[in-house]
Amino acid sequence: ILEERCQRILQDMEGSLTARDRVGIQDFVLLDAYTSETAFMDNLRKRFNENLIYTYIGTLLVSVNPYKELGIYTKKQMDIYMGVNFFELPPHIFALADNVYRTMISETNNHFILISGESGAGKTEASKTVLQFYAVCCPSTRLLDNVRDRLLLSNPVLEAFGNAKTLKNDNSSRFGKYMDIQFDHQGAAVGGHILSYLLEKSRVVHQNRGERNFHIFYQLVEGGEDELLRRLGLERNCQKYRYLIQGECAKVSSINDKSDWKTVQKALTIIEFSEKDIEHLFAIIASVLHLGNVHFEASAHGYATLNSSAELLGIPLNMLQEGLTHRKIEAKAEEVLSPFTAEHAKYARDALAKAIYGRTFSWLVNKINESLANKDSTRKTVIGLLDIYGFEVFDVNSFEQFCINFCNEKLQQLFIQLTLKSEQEEYEMEGIEWEPVPYFNNKIICDLVEEKHRGIISILDEECLRPGEATDFTFLEKLEEKMCGHPHFVTHKLADQKTRKTLERGDFRLLHYAGEVTYSVVGFLDKNNDLLYRNIKEVRGFTTVSLSLHTSDHFDDVMVRHQVKYLGLMEHLRVRRAGFAYRRRYEVFLKRYKALCPDTWPHWKGTPAEGVQRLIKHLGYKPDEYKMGRTKIFIRHPRTLFATEDAFEIC
Ligand code: ADP
Ligand code: MG
Repeated sequence: ILEERCQRILQDMEGSLTARDRVGIQDFVLLDAYTSETAFMDNLRKRFNENLIYTYIGTLLVSVNPYKELGIYTKKQMDIYMGVNFFELPPHIFALADNVYRTMISETNNHFILISGESGAGKTEASKTVLQFYAVCCPSTRLLDNVRDRLLLSNPVLEAFGNAKTLKNDNSSRFGKYMDIQFDHQGAAVGGHILSYLLEKSRVVHQNRGERNFHIFYQLVEGGEDELLRRLGLERNCQKYRYLIQGECAKVSSINDKSDWKTVQKALTIIEFSEKDIEHLFAIIASVLHLGNVHFEASAHGYATLNSSAELLGIPLNMLQEGLTHRKIEAKAEEVLSPFTAEHAKYARDALAKAIYGRTFSWLVNKINESLANKDSTRKTVIGLLDIYGFEVFDVNSFEQFCINFCNEKLQQLFIQLTLKSEQEEYEMEGIEWEPVPYFNNKIICDLVEEKHRGIISILDEECLRPGEATDFTFLEKLEEKMCGHPHFVTHKLADQKTRKTLERGDFRLLHYAGEVTYSVVGFLDKNNDLLYRNIKEVRGFTTVSLSLHTSDHFDDVMVRHQVKYLGLMEHLRVRRAGFAYRRRYEVFLKRYKALCPDTWPHWKGTPAEGVQRLIKHLGYKPDEYKMGRTKIFIRHPRTLFATEDAFEIC
């Protein structure tokens, strides 16, 4: 049988040699020539043109967004990948998901899948595909089907409230998501938990041209039942709502708001939102639309739409009106109301709308978590899926981009630590001879942003503590004072002649690991404060509502090359190529394979390292195929291990 299998593998390898010219190589580690960036790109392009969007670098999966349905996520495909060795089939996200799942079960430990890439790269779709795989492939019982459906259906709900059309992606996630899927000891999915980060609340009140507000608003207006719209005082016309039309693209051909509305309704029911919850939820969403239409004039009469908002929120009209148009000043024991200017009032209105939406979103995530919670307290293992929103550069970049890009900077730091750094440190620790591979460590940029007392965030927080005195521009001056000479920070004042031309006075530029981004400081203080006038907060205390709360078939060379570069894929490849695909502690390795050698079976009396030495000698490992570390054996190629694993299965 072993011979037959070897024959088959050899045939496959020969076959793949002839096919290689056409479809490229499926693991960058395996081909000698593939160390230059050009060769790397050639291989990706070749494969992309054959609709092969996945390629490995060892155990890392590289995916290129095809922007079209490839029919590769079917149940049939899932069956093919289930329980098969990672390298035996063409690269696929199912292979990765399956490998993680099986390792989790055999080693009873937690794992997590980190998905990284620019906006529109396909991160969210990838995380959904992984979830789908587990939902379909993991063992389940009737009881657990519930959990499975809820896990899957949490997606359309969160996407409706947290995704929007941007210039880069018609369904761009405007929040970061970390999801735990919990498994019992038999490997059945028994629960889940979602953490959301950094919802882009400013989108509720403002959208750039070509972008939309969060999907749910359009879904409600387009798809909401007549009776519901009547109750909410809404017209079936997005053009009527100021918060929906600033991007001038309320209608998007790739999005069907009407049918998405139905999907969301169904999902909400299955996740066990009560009718009352749902009624309240949309009352609040509608109140935001009404708020957006409130006008302020020096002597305003008639607050028709304000009335709708107040009613839907369940607060007295005069309180909301007063809250939006007056500031409460405490003078000694007295409270004095001082009127806002119309400009101030608009600002207060938008701040309220953002706060309402932000809290509604948190409430929604909480409700979903309640429904996903696993009631049983036995020990569980988890697979975590991290999908944050990708690095963003627009013509004008503001506080939101600053936060998003910082997040990505931290993610890259984590990625570097988990791969490049720890890998090389392990060789060192184990005493394996090793020529270090240099790589760019972005820690310097992370520090620039987050260092205590000195980083940009600290300085921003300090400025926010000086209300009335500090402005966005004093903040910029402070930055210039403190960051002067930092290699990753430039402003108009600090720039050389050449760079100065491209910088406005109110801008600062960060040299991120992924490239340069120029930020406009306008709005930084306000947004950091997330300011809500105090008497508006009081009004919310009275609420009766139960809120506790590019589409083409072509390979974009520039874009792909940029990401290959900034994700550090070449460095990763170099480490992988020079390194070892597989490592195991001597005890573990010996325990698993000792039956393959008469000397080590059933008991080995010497040290585990000696036992492993004897074992691999018997198996015929060649000297360049492995290295013996202090506590572990390191195996260079997966194929060596597969041969051993195959022999083990047969025996
Ligand atoms: P990101 O989360 O990285 O910003 P998305 O996952 O939302 O990007 O992907 C953007 C769009 O690209 C999706 O809406 C979908 O149309 C397309 N897409 C992404 N991944 C795939 C895939 N594997 N197959 C087909 N289309 C995809
Ligand atoms: Mg996304």
